[in-house]
Amino acid sequence: MRPYILAETNWETLKDVNFDLAVLPWGATEAHNYHLPYATDNFEADALAAGSAKIAWEKGGKVIVLPTVPFGVNTGQSDIYLDINLNPSTQFAILCDIVEVLHRQGIYKLLIFNSHGGNNFKPLVRELGLKYRKMFISFSNWPQALDKSNYFQEEGDHADEMETSLMLYLKPELVLPKDKWGSGGSKKYKIKAFSEGWVWAERKWSQISEDTGVGNPINSTSEKGERFFKDVTQKMGNFLFELCGADINDLYQ
Ligand SMILES: [Zn+2]
Repeated sequence: MRPYILAETNWETLKDVNFDLAVLPWGATEAHNYHLPYATDNFEADALAAGSAKIAWEKGGKVIVLPTVPFGVNTGQSDIYLDINLNPSTQFAILCDIVEVLHRQGIYKLLIFNSHGGNNFKPLVRELGLKYRKMFISFSNWPQALDKSNYFQEEGDHADEMETSLMLYLKPELVLPKDKWGSGGSKKYKIKAFSEGWVWAERKWSQISEDTGVGNPINSTSEKGERFFKDVTQKMGNFLFELCGADINDLYQ
């Protein structure tokens, strides 16, 4: 039983503990190229949040990891079989209820541990910050915590070399053999402004990628996944510890 994982701990333990920080991992249920499981983002969120919290806990940080929310925003994948979409307004409603509990029980720091590119927490955190003035709510995107090019050869952002390597390390029994891996080729907008990043529109996923992947997984290995996992959890773990001890009324220098 890991005392920093809510799903594993118990009332006997929790009746005498006060946590400073709650971590809410948030994933998605969606196709990941031909070869990775639909819950890839959730497996990654579970393992990375737990690995990071372990580091913070062992340093003395009072952190508790809530169960991973398994559905995310998949509005652009409506025609991909069994991609389970949660509308942004539903996501907001779920988050409101969780924040309400934490606020009522005096856990004023929340980190949303995002694991899925379609989830956009910024407007949600802004609105909740106004409503719950005592709370300090932040969110992280772990794929951006490190420079991926130091770990992986191929760029990508969905079922790519990074995700395939991580899954080969975390759940090898759920990764199909290499001859089933799609190339993760994807199409870009014809209008340049979209690729330059200063104009945004949601991509129709089934039109940009045949195998649902974006990024070629061909050079993925479990060793690369392990190295990335250890470095991400170390960095996130140090951050969680720092956040546990931070005075939320004195954050600026
Ligand atoms: Zn993913």
